[in-house]
This record gives sequence, structure tokens and C-alpha cells, in this order.
Amino acid sequence: MIEVKNLGKTFDDGTVALKDVNLTIPDGDFIAVIGLSGAGKSTFLRCLNRLENPSTGEIIVDGVDVAKLRGRALQRYRRTAGFIFQQFNLVDRLTVMENVLTGRLGYYSTIQGVLGLYSERDEILARDYIRMVGLDEKENTRVDSLSGGQQQRVAIARAMTQEPKLILADEPMASLDPRLSDVILGLLKDYNEKNNVAVLVNIHVIELAKRYAKRILAFNKGELVFDGPVDILDDALEEEIYSGSLEML
Ligand code: ADP
Repeated sequence: MIEVKNLGKTFDDGTVALKDVNLTIPDGDFIAVIGLSGAGKSTFLRCLNRLENPSTGEIIVDGVDVAKLRGRALQRYRRTAGFIFQQFNLVDRLTVMENVLTGRLGYYSTIQGVLGLYSERDEILARDYIRMVGLDEKENTRVDSLSGGQQQRVAIARAMTQEPKLILADEPMASLDPRLSDVILGLLKDYNEKNNVAVLVNIHVIELAKRYAKRILAFNKGELVFDGPVDILDDALEEEIYSGSLEML
């Protein structure tokens, strides 16, 4: 379980991206994060795994405030949160297998990582997830020769190979053909259900959020304005979320 308390983020240029966010994320939750562009969704996810440093507040994971971690402790925390990016963030000249194995890098020293000294267990794990995302025939193919949808599936297999306690996906379908959305969200949902790992996905298509998520978080101008079960999200509430007429929680 993750407890977020009074989380705030102000960038160096003075932009206030998050204001006093408070919520709890139990294991196994599937959460869609919605809101207009610029509302703070991406900053929220990036603070959760410390790709961004929060300016204020706490992120309590297993009793530890990870908002303030540094050095090795921060590296150890990061490997517990898999992050899936809009633009995949793969290493183009490496194969599917090599990219997926980088999900294990957080468990090794830098030198072992550079030399690619992965254990047999890690290779088995990587192969299992490559199979799960349906790319077993591409294991030794360079990722830059794959389609966008295939590349995103590699990124998902990489995140799963991390054996994370949490998966964060920042608009993972945004640069793909909309028809692939169900493939991407279906893979995340399967993983979520089988492993009881919480998944947070930034989604700008409300229909998809409704179809896959159990819970919706809505941001407006850096404020969390809605946090509730997906089934109470109706047209009127959606209108309120997007018009900015809801009070901060
Ligand atoms: P969303 O994901 O909802 O589109 P973001 O979290 O990307 O929103 O952005 C929230 C706000 O923070 C926006 O005003 C955006 O311009 C600003 N922002 C994001 N990243 C930076 C940055 N590195 N430096 C300054 N401002 C930023």
C-alpha cells in the first residue's frame, strides 16, 4: 500500500504542477488518472517513482517515506516501480530480449549491468514476459525494426520483468493506433489481476478508463478533484471534472 500525503510539486520556473495531493493506493488497485492536458497527471506518476522530486509532502511505501530517498536507497526503491512511457523509451540498437532484461538492471551493480551479466533466472523471467506480451518470435530482433505497438509491448514486458510492486503507465497508448489500446490495457489488466500489483494509467480517453479501471483519479490545475469508483463517473461528473468546477479534495 502507498500513502500519499500533502504531495506538491513546483518546478524551478515557478510552475505549480501538483498541490497538496492526498490519497491511498492499496495493492491490486487499477486506477485511471484523468484530466486535461497540463493538469498534473504525468507529474503525479513521475513523483510516485521519483523520476521527479516532490517539492513537499510524503509518499509512504511499506512505512518508509520514499519522497526523500537518495542514492542507493532511491535506486532500490525505483526498481519496485515499473514505468511505461508514451514514447516507449527503449534502446533502439538492442534486441527485444536485451531491452526486456534491462528491467533487471536495478538489481545489479553498474559494472554487472554494463557487461550484461544477467542470471539464468532473469533470462527465464524475461522470456516468460516476452511470451506473455506475444513477442516470442521476436526475441532476438532489434527493437527499432518493430512496429510502435510491438515496441510498447516490449516496454510492458520490461516493466513486468522488474517484478515491480507498482506499475505506472503515462499515456501508454498515446502514440499508437487507437485500435491497439485494448491490447495494451488488456496486458496491464491481466498482470494486475494475476499479481495483485497496483497499476496507475494516465488515460485521456474516458471510455477506456471506464472499461478497465476500478477507480478514477481526476486532476485539474494540479489539484486532485475526484477520487472514487469508476461506476459513479457519469456525464455530469465528467463535465464537472473537465470544466474545473469541482473543489479540491
Ligand atoms: P499532464 O500530464 O496532466 O498533461 P503535466 O504533469 O505534464 O500534466 O504538467 C503539469 C504542469 O507542469 C503543466 O503546466 C506543465 O507545463 C508543467 N511542467 C511539466 N514538466 C515541467 C518541467 N520540467 N518544468 C516546468 N514545468 C513543467
